[in-house]
Amino acid sequence: MKPLSKNIILAIITVLLVSAIFSSVSLNTTKPEEISLAKLSEEIENGLVASTTVEGSDVLVKLKDSTEQKARKDASVSLESALSDYGLASENIRAANISIKDRGARSYFLGVILPSLLPLFLLIIIFWFMIRQMQGVNNRAMSFGMSGAREIKDTKQKVTFKDVAGSKEAKEELQEVVEFLKNPKKFSDLGAKLPKGVLMMGRPGTGKTLMARAIAGEAGVPFFHMSGSEFVEMFVGVGASRVRDLFTRAKKSAPCIVFVDEIDAVGRQRGTGLGGGHDEREQTLNQILVEMDGFDPNIGVIVIAATNRPDVLDPALLRPGRFDRRVILDLPDINEREEILNLHAKNKPFNAEVNLRRVAERTPGFSGADLMNLLNEAAIRAARFDRKQINQEDVLDSIEKVLLGPERKSFVMNKEEKKITAYHEAGHALVAKMLPNADPVHKVSIIARGSAGGYTLKLPTEDRRLHKRAEFIDDMAVMLGGFVAEKETFGDVTTGASDDLRKCTHIARELVMRYGMSEELGPQVFGESQEMVFLGREIHEQRNYSEKTAETIDQEVKNLVSSAMETARDIIKKEKNYLDTIANILLEKETIEKDDFEAIFAW
Ligand code: ADP
Ligand code: MG
Ligand code: ZN
Repeated sequence: MKPLSKNIILAIITVLLVSAIFSSVSLNTTKPEEISLAKLSEEIENGLVASTTVEGSDVLVKLKDSTEQKARKDASVSLESALSDYGLASENIRAANISIKDRGARSYFLGVILPSLLPLFLLIIIFWFMIRQMQGVNNRAMSFGMSGAREIKDTKQKVTFKDVAGSKEAKEELQEVVEFLKNPKKFSDLGAKLPKGVLMMGRPGTGKTLMARAIAGEAGVPFFHMSGSEFVEMFVGVGASRVRDLFTRAKKSAPCIVFVDEIDAVGRQRGTGLGGGHDEREQTLNQILVEMDGFDPNIGVIVIAATNRPDVLDPALLRPGRFDRRVILDLPDINEREEILNLHAKNKPFNAEVNLRRVAERTPGFSGADLMNLLNEAAIRAARFDRKQINQEDVLDSIEKVLLGPERKSFVMNKEEKKITAYHEAGHALVAKMLPNADPVHKVSIIARGSAGGYTLKLPTEDRRLHKRAEFIDDMAVMLGGFVAEKETFGDVTTGASDDLRKCTHIARELVMRYGMSEELGPQVFGESQEMVFLGREIHEQRNYSEKTAETIDQEVKNLVSSAMETARDIIKKEKNYLDTIANILLEKETIEKDDFEAIFAW
């Protein structure tokens, strides 16, 4: 409402100015002396008056000595009768030489009509401003339903498949889509139906958005980008109308790509969750389905959607004729990671010693976005040290930063805490070293990083999709290594192990309930988890087993954890001198790198 009041003030100021100008104009005319009618009649009687001119209610008097005077009379009464009312004889009146002047049209307008019209003008102006304001609001209300999708076309820095490293299978699959878009006629002439929807699935940061833009870039067609959450506003019905608008725009510029990012924001399974079945998301989803069914596949509009939660999508979206093509973008394997690193390293000056293959080896489980972030952190670190080139240390430090959070060198531990942390981390490292199925230790440190007081960095030697039971069992022992080392060394335990314990118990539970790896219960899965949307996200677990089974599960989890504890205790008791050595080096140097760590055991 602010601009409205501003405009009103402006209008009022304008009107005041205009009227001020008018009044000053009339003030500027020569100002004859004002006299009363009584004085005028006296002057006429004394024969001083040469002539009088009547103009409306104004009487202009010219005296014989040619001075001018002015008098006023009632406009409805003639000057003659006014003068005779003052007792002037009619021959005297005649001597006054009365002439009547018609008001000029202009002065009549200025003097009579304008003043009465001014308030009207004022009102009109105010109304005009108000109406304009309302229209503005209206316009905004109207544009609510517009999709607001960003259209990207023919940009200078076009993204193509070359900018997406790895993901070979996905690219091959999508190459077909590019062909469709480049030449829809070729396919429709053969009676082929073009695909309508492509669903890209993959973890966050695996390059879904990037890939969609690359398709548009390859095909050279317009690209409408909209995020699932952008459809939904506070008002019901807006989402559906945005979908309609988006598709109308897209159909006009066919062939083109409509990209709906994070479609799970609107495309969740209907009928779950609370708040009745008719919520805004559902209507938006329905509209998407209607639009996708509605257009002729051969006009060349291809809808690409991306999600990292394909499991929650409504089955109707996945039906043939909608998103029937599915492309999976996996986390990159070691070769792909190297490719991605090389791609993002292009415009960064690296020291000759930097070996990106080594970096790729050290980063299993990193997504494309993580790797990009990693190189960026390395560049920032190099700049902080005022170096012109990025060296290996920058890169390695950044890996840990991305994994665990920034170092907190200022985090002060007292002597005792430092000692406990050293033994705790030494415990993890020692158990990991001694167990055949645990990942090798890359680094042990008692420098606080992120929320951890210290850390032991273990990395798998290769990418693995499958995990053996033995690995889980050994991992659990490694996790308890810290706890056990504290207990064996100091006879007491601290809160520092709480996170380890939580993770360890979680693994044990997963082994028993999800992976069927418990000997007692056999290959069965227990509990069906179902996601419910209620005040944020909540995993609701449905219990589909008896009280008796629940007891057995608890017993099995307990057995697994205590046997892992036993393993860890055996190792730490047996190799106590190694534990002391590692802890002492940590207290002295704070970190031990992989090679130095291996050297301890070479003695
Ligand atoms: P998503 O949409 O899957 O969450 P993005 O497409 O937004 O991920 O990826 C984020 C960034 O990560 C991209 O801008 C890109 O720089 C980088 N990236 C991810 N995957 C790759 C890849 N395969 N090749 C090159 N860069 C990648
Ligand atoms: Mg994305
Ligand atoms: Zn720990």
